This record gives sequence, C-alpha cells and structure tokens, in this order.
Amino acid sequence: MSETVGAIDLRSDTLTQPSREMKEAMMQASLGDDVFGEDPTVRQLETKLAGIFGMEAGLFCPSGTMSNQIAIRLHTGPQTEVICHKYSHVYLYEGGGIMSNSQASVKLLDGAAGKLQVEAIRESINPDDDHAPETTLVSLENTMNKGGGSVYTLEEVRPIRQLCKETGLKLHLDGARLFNALVYSGERPHDWGKMCDTLSICLSKGLGCPVGSVLLGSQATIRKARKVRKALGGGMRQAGMLAAAGIYALDHHVARLEEDHDRARLIAHLLARVPGVSEILPVATNIVIARLDRISPESFLEQLADKQIRAVKFGKDQIRMVTHLDIEDRHLEAMEQRFAQWKVRF
Ligand SMILES: *Cc1c(COP(=O)(O)O)cnc(C)c1O
Repeated sequence: MSETVGAIDLRSDTLTQPSREMKEAMMQASLGDDVFGEDPTVRQLETKLAGIFGMEAGLFCPSGTMSNQIAIRLHTGPQTEVICHKYSHVYLYEGGGIMSNSQASVKLLDGAAGKLQVEAIRESINPDDDHAPETTLVSLENTMNKGGGSVYTLEEVRPIRQLCKETGLKLHLDGARLFNALVYSGERPHDWGKMCDTLSICLSKGLGCPVGSVLLGSQATIRKARKVRKALGGGMRQAGMLAAAGIYALDHHVARLEEDHDRARLIAHLLARVPGVSEILPVATNIVIARLDRISPESFLEQLADKQIRAVKFGKDQIRMVTHLDIEDRHLEAMEQRFAQWKVRF
C-alpha cells in the first residue's frame, strides 16, 4: 500500500507543484510590462488582495523576503531600531537583510510560542536619548513559523497596535502564512488590515503558487515600496503569468488550508508514538515541531529518509514537518504504516 505512495516530503509548504488548473490559469493570463505598470494581471492580483484585507494598495514581489525587507526599509533606516521576536523570520532567515538593506539595529524579544507581549514591547522602546537608536518599527509574524505555526489573535494584537499608535511606531506584519491563521481563527481579513501599516502575504507557501508574495499598505506607502523594489532588483516584466497563479490560489486554495491543519494534527498524533519523540509543540495550523531525546535530529531524519519521509532539523533537538497541498490522506495512511514498522535505532 505505502509502496504506491512513494516519497512523502514534509520539509516545507514551499515544495508544492502548481496544479494543471493553476498552470492553465497562468497560460491564459493577459500580460504587459509591469515595470511600466502595464501588466493587467499583476494589477488585478494586487487590487484583489488589497481588497480582501481592506487596504489601499498592493505590490507583487518575487519573494516574501523581499516584501518584508521592502517594508522594513520603508519604516526604518540608519540609527533606528526594529523590535521583533528572537525567532522571527525577518531576523533569522532573511540573510541579515535588516542590516544590509536598512542599516537598522534589531531588538530581539522572547515570548512563548514565538509571540510578543505588549508589555515586553513597551519596555523595549528606546528613550529619546543620544545613546540609543530610535525605535521606529515593531514586526510581528502570523502564523509564527518557529513558534510551531502558532497564531496571534486580533485580541492579542490590538493592544500592540494601540501601543504603536500612541508611541508613533509603525507595525509590520509578516503574514507569510496569515491565511492559515485566519482559517484557524475564523477572524476576518479586514480586521487584520486595520492592525498594521504594512502586511506581507506569501503565495508560494500554503496557497501553492510557484512564486510570489504581495506587500499591502496605503497608496503612499506602496508608491515608495515600488521604488525600493526596483532598487532591490525586484521589478519584473510580464509577471502576470505568476500573478495569475496567485489569483487562482486566492479563489481555490484558501478554504482548503483547513485540510492541511487537520492533517498536521494527525501527524502530531502519529509522531507522538514514535520512540525518541519526547514532546510535540501544540499544533494550531500546518506546522508540526517535534522535540527529540536520546536521538539526534540528524539520526532521526536519516532513519525517516530511509522510509522515504522527509522533514527538516529545526533547532538542536527538534525537527519540523509541514503539511501542504500535495500531502493527501493516502500519504498519512502510508506514514502510519511506515511508522508502525520502524525500529528506531538510538
Ligand atoms: C517563507 C517565509 C517568508 C518568506 O520567504 P521567501 O522564501 O523569501 O518567500 C517570510 N516569513 C515567513 C514566516 C516565512 O515562513
């Protein structure tokens, strides 16, 4: 049975292959030169996504790293500081871009499940003092990748937004997986649009597109963002083929994220029974993080790979599995069988 399934790749939700229907939508896209602002499909995607979140404008970018870095560039600069969680993607996984693109300092905070608490932020805002960089930005991540796909609720973010308003700070939301959070919480996109100055959404994660992210903000912000995107080399020409995949995904791949979340919970149950797994972080969305004892992540992953199951190391004693569009029930059935036959070597 599991032989017919073959490899089960849970390393990331970026691994998805565009479906035949998505490719057809890409082939039919009307195209133009987007650096001239003339690609109708890119414009349609930007307007559509801005509309979903009740924000004024959008900017199609080649990656989530670029859309985050553009936002940070707009909200910071030399001798300023951004407050973010020590596990945030913008700090850990964007090649040191905050420093190289914006020349800004970073204040890293801790917080359970990768989330920031409003009081911790309040205490970290620098005083108006010659010694200190000027705090100008708070950057949040929802869902929080390294927090195990954890979800901020509106109730948690509202006081942070309020604090930012009172103190004149900008708020950026790295919403690479914000749709996963919304499907989990049932909250409305419009309410999240009101929570931040800039919002980055990834199309190439759970939504299953080959390429692309969109930065959302006010008209004035996105006007400036276009210039930064150009300087970073992210101005694309007939990008409508890629944008068409995004439009298709927004129409067809949002509600189904629930299935990814259900399967992640099932994987957590299966993993919990494997010898060597000491703990599973609470699963909210499509990310499962397992903590190991008596066995290294390397050895665990190698033995998993022998069973044609792939995952990634995620910290010194943890592994991560991510469900996505190309993981179906038959894969989980095969996984259960392969786990049952697994004699873990310590
Ligand atoms: C994937 C991801 C990004 C953007 O990554 P790219 O690979 O550059 O598109 C940003 N933030 C989070 C939390 C992510 O998981």
